[in-house]
Amino acid sequence: MHMSASTGKNDRRLRFVLKLSMALTTAYIAGTFLFGLRAHSLALISEAGHNVSDLLAILLSFLAVFLQSRPANDRKTFGYQRAGVLAAFVNALTLIVLSGWIAIAAIGRLHSPVPVQPNVMMIVATFGVLMNGAVAALLWRFSRDVNIRSVFLHMLGDTLSTAAVIAGGAGILFTGLTWIDPVLSLIIAGLILWSSAGIVRETFNILLEGTPKGLQVPEIRAAIQKIPGVLGVHDLHVWSLTTDSHALASHITIGDRPLAESRAILKEVNHALEHRFQIHHTTIQFEATDCSKAEGCCNPPRPVEEHACSHDHAH
Ligand SMILES: [Zn+2]
Ligand SMILES: [Zn+2]
Ligand SMILES: [Zn+2]
Ligand SMILES: [Zn+2]
Repeated sequence: MHMSASTGKNDRRLRFVLKLSMALTTAYIAGTFLFGLRAHSLALISEAGHNVSDLLAILLSFLAVFLQSRPANDRKTFGYQRAGVLAAFVNALTLIVLSGWIAIAAIGRLHSPVPVQPNVMMIVATFGVLMNGAVAALLWRFSRDVNIRSVFLHMLGDTLSTAAVIAGGAGILFTGLTWIDPVLSLIIAGLILWSSAGIVRETFNILLEGTPKGLQVPEIRAAIQKIPGVLGVHDLHVWSLTTDSHALASHITIGDRPLAESRAILKEVNHALEHRFQIHHTTIQFEATDCSKAEGCCNPPRPVEEHACSHDHAH
C-alpha cells in the first residue's frame, strides 16, 4: 500500500539474499545426501531431508516477498501483504511436525542403538555450520519481518545444532557412547519446537486480527479521549496487516460541530496514533451523539443473524 522507493530497493536486496540462500542450501543438501549414502548413515540422510524442508521454507519466503510487493487492486484491496504472514504460519506448523518426527526417531534410537560414524558426522557438520551460519548472517538484517525472522531463527537454530553435532561426534569418537547421537537429536527437536511455537503464536494473532504485539487498546482509547473536542470513543478495532503495518477503525463522538472543527480533531487523532502507536492506516467515523444509543449501533460487531439491535433506516 504505502510503498516507498527505499522499500523497493530493500526488497530487491532481500530477494538476492534469498536466492543466494537457496543456492547454498541446495549445494549442502546434495553434499549431505551423497555423504550419507556413501557412509550408510541414516543421520546424514535425514539431515539432508531436514534441509529439503529448509529449502521449501526459504522458497515460501521468497514467494511471499514477491507477492507482498504486488500492489493492491479492486479484488485485493489490502494487496498481498499477509502472504508473508501466511507463509511463516505454514512453515512453523510443518517445523512442529518435523520436531515431533525427530523426537520419535531419537527415542527409537535410544531403545535400539544404531552405530554411527563420528568422523563423517563431524566433517559434514562442519560444512553445515558454515552453510547455516552464512545464511543466518545474510538474513539477519532483514529479520524484522516475521516471515524472514522465521527463516533466520531457524537457520540460527540449525547453526547451533550442527555445531552440537560436531561436539557430539567428538564425544562419540573419544568415549564410544552412541546414546550421544539421539540425545543431541532430542535437543535439536526441542530447539525447533521452541522457535516455531513463538512464530505460530505471533502469526496466529495477526491472522485472527488480534491487537498488535506491544500495543494496549486501553492506552490507545485513553490517548484519543484526551484530545480536546473528543467526547467518547467506541467500536474501537486495532489490528495488524503484517508485523510492522497496523490499522485502526473507530467511532468517535465529538458533538454537533462544523466540519472544519472536526477536521482539526481528526488531524490531532491521526497525529497521536501515528507517533505514539505507529498506526498509519485509520478509518474514523465521527458522530454527533453516541450512536450506540441514538442509532442502534453495535459494539462489538456481530454476524447479521445475531444482530441484536435495530436500524431505523430503510434498506
Ligand atoms: Zn533447518
Ligand atoms: Zn492507506
Ligand atoms: Zn458509533
Ligand atoms: Zn448495528
